[in-house]
Amino acid sequence: MSNPFNNAMEQLAKAARYLEVGNERLEVGKKIELLKQPERIIQVYFPVKMDNGQVKIFEGYRVQFNSTLGPYKGGIRFHPQVSMDEVKALSFWMMVKCAVVDLPLGGGKGGVVVDPKVLSEKELENLSRGYMRGIWRDIGPLVDVPAPDVNTNPKIMAWMVDEYKKLKTQNSKLKITKKNEGPEILATITGKPVDKGGSQGRTEATGMGGMYVLLATLAKLNSKLKTQNSKLTVAIEGFGNVGYFIAKLLSENGFKVVAVSDSRGGVYVKEGLDVEATMECKKKKGVLGGCYCRGGVCDLSYGKTVTNKELLELPVDILIPAALENQITKENAPRIKAQVVLEMANGPTTPEADEILHKKGIVVVPDILANAGGVTVSYFEWVQNRRNERWEVGDVNKKLKQVMDKAVDEVWRSKEKHKVTLRVAAFIVAIGRVLAKM
Ligand code: GLU
Repeated sequence: MSNPFNNAMEQLAKAARYLEVGNERLEVGKKIELLKQPERIIQVYFPVKMDNGQVKIFEGYRVQFNSTLGPYKGGIRFHPQVSMDEVKALSFWMMVKCAVVDLPLGGGKGGVVVDPKVLSEKELENLSRGYMRGIWRDIGPLVDVPAPDVNTNPKIMAWMVDEYKKLKTQNSKLKITKKNEGPEILATITGKPVDKGGSQGRTEATGMGGMYVLLATLAKLNSKLKTQNSKLTVAIEGFGNVGYFIAKLLSENGFKVVAVSDSRGGVYVKEGLDVEATMECKKKKGVLGGCYCRGGVCDLSYGKTVTNKELLELPVDILIPAALENQITKENAPRIKAQVVLEMANGPTTPEADEILHKKGIVVVPDILANAGGVTVSYFEWVQNRRNERWEVGDVNKKLKQVMDKAVDEVWRSKEKHKVTLRVAAFIVAIGRVLAKM
């Protein structure tokens, strides 16, 4: 499997060419050198009490990539494939992502090597608290602000922020009051439950931001997209928080979602699937397989199962990878049929695949733009906590749309100016912002 950090560095190199201009060349070159390694890597080993009474040691990371634009920001992932290079890549992409949407935040990321699906609820809580005990000294509202990522959610963020609060108060003279809890404690982690200091709209934010980016991009592409029928068809790899919400939002907004999948495989309903009913069915059965749902009814005759590999190659207008890295590679890229790839996962397309898709005329809307809605509303949550405010969901979504629309405009202008792909254009905008402040 290709190394995500090497892929990230290839992307940087492609954009760097456009930034190394004029007599500033050397200076810029040196700054870019600094963006090839994280500022700090924290590696932790921590004990977790298991239900059978035994203690297991887990390995975790927090990579603080770059803080030029503000505190490190980025999620925490629980996955068996987590590795230092993966977390480094993800933290680098967070730096770029925050800069693309012009947030005053840097890039960071965390991960624990674990398969959370085999843990009980109590073990998951112990793991979350244990990881926090490993990293709490290195985070804080103005230092590094974690959030959810793959296999982590608001409930896990609540355990972590609670553990942080305990550790912080036990180990310092800080007395928590109604007034300082927001800015001192709650602003340390975003993606919390709404009743525990989270923001309205954060859970669906990544999906919502993705939809805004897609709509804005389609508007720029104008009528270049050829449609067989009135509705654009969509296949989505991944049915977690991001995949589910973008499926739901797109199908509510005039798109026809024909396929979704989770780590074990997917379902294909050619006439368009009912996202809500599919989710209900998956919850009931524990698996997606057999959940072929249309208009509130699930029936085996409505569709068929597809592997993740098959899903990526379906004849659809829009393909949305919303799972893990390295899904679109040089092997399968030649067979991708979609006209637009909206990267809701981080790093789903390898650099070689990117070239192939570009040559085929497929528009790739890059992760650092497409999925930036999540961190944007995380930023709103952080601002609300710091000011002890609570914003209405309508205000959150309106502000989110403004941020995403502006980012699409800027990236589009960069693409036209430099005659490059949207990914390179987004890198030019983002890295340009970082360099300007270095
Ligand atoms: N994990 C999300 C991402 O990859 C959100 C990060 C955040 O909200 O800080 O963008």
